[in-house]
Amino acid sequence: MKTWEKNIRKVVPYVPGEQPKGDKLIKLNTNENPYPPGPGVSRALGAMDFEGLRKYPDPAARALTDCLAEYYGVGTDQVFVGVGSDDVLATAFLTFFNSEKPILFPDVTYSFYKVWAELFGIPYETLPLDETFSIRPEDYYKENGGVIFPNPNAPTGLFLGLSQVEEILRHNSDGIVIVDEAYIDFGGQSALKLLAQYENLLVVQTFSKSRSLAGLRIGFAIGSPRLIAALNDVKYSYNSYTMNLPSLALGVEAVRDEEYFQETIKKIVSTREKAKKRFRELGFSFPDSMANFIFASHEKVPAAELFSALLREKIYVRYFPKPRLENFLRITIGREEEMEALFVFLEEQVSGWKP
Ligand SMILES: *Cc1c(COP(=O)(O)O)cnc(C)c1O
Repeated sequence: MKTWEKNIRKVVPYVPGEQPKGDKLIKLNTNENPYPPGPGVSRALGAMDFEGLRKYPDPAARALTDCLAEYYGVGTDQVFVGVGSDDVLATAFLTFFNSEKPILFPDVTYSFYKVWAELFGIPYETLPLDETFSIRPEDYYKENGGVIFPNPNAPTGLFLGLSQVEEILRHNSDGIVIVDEAYIDFGGQSALKLLAQYENLLVVQTFSKSRSLAGLRIGFAIGSPRLIAALNDVKYSYNSYTMNLPSLALGVEAVRDEEYFQETIKKIVSTREKAKKRFRELGFSFPDSMANFIFASHEKVPAAELFSALLREKIYVRYFPKPRLENFLRITIGREEEMEALFVFLEEQVSGWKP
């Protein structure tokens, strides 16, 4: 090994879902929104200020933080934006998880948490979900260096009731609790309601799923002014200009496209509820998802085999070959006709399957 090799930081990176190229494929593997961004975003993209790209963008991203503050009824000093919620979450880990005590998160959850903890040298402890894949709030009533969990959880889709989220907050007044609400717009109740009572609560959301803008990379956190100021201090300590000009302008338009946003959510939720019925009829079981995906397991056909068969058919879903998850597929809710094609194929596979 060369001497300089020893000085390279060794990390095990997060593995994102595949982004296959080509048409005629059905992409249900990364929880993107199957519908395009709204009409306001489209118009603003067409009218984009080309000359404006010459200059640095506003480092405080005020256009977007003001617009989100107004939308969610909080102060503009309570909003922090970043390059997708991954950037916001990474900054929050770096800012808030500085204790010698381990931070706590579920064993089955967004796999990036572990990656950030390792990257930043943050001690962590994972707490097992119960046999129904639910978070047990009481597991989090112990000494820790902070708490983070998604709500709804990923990849299960299960939503933890707001009263239980509050119980976790009540028992953690000495640490910071981050609720990662990447999927909250698909039916759950946001912990934003609890902000007034809990200064140590940080709610993180994204434009990637419900607002059809995964490609633009916009995420945000809402919390007390003290927490937001701390996030900004860390941000300004490594990159002042995280938000590019197009993202700022188009992000604002996405928030203004309220009617389109509500319509799209309604369609996805309706398709999801129909999909639950179809999955059940085919012999699948799954936690009751409040997200834009379903985490399903078949009583007879192994998930690994279904995954391969679907891939041959160019139907992309997500498979996690990990203990407890290896017999499940995470299937993003697509457009009605995409789901129909999925079910036609699954029906064939399930009825024709021989061990
Ligand atoms: C998708 C997702 C994110 C990150 O999304 P961004 O595209 O970076 O905003 C964060 N947390 C969870 C649980 C997710 O599923």
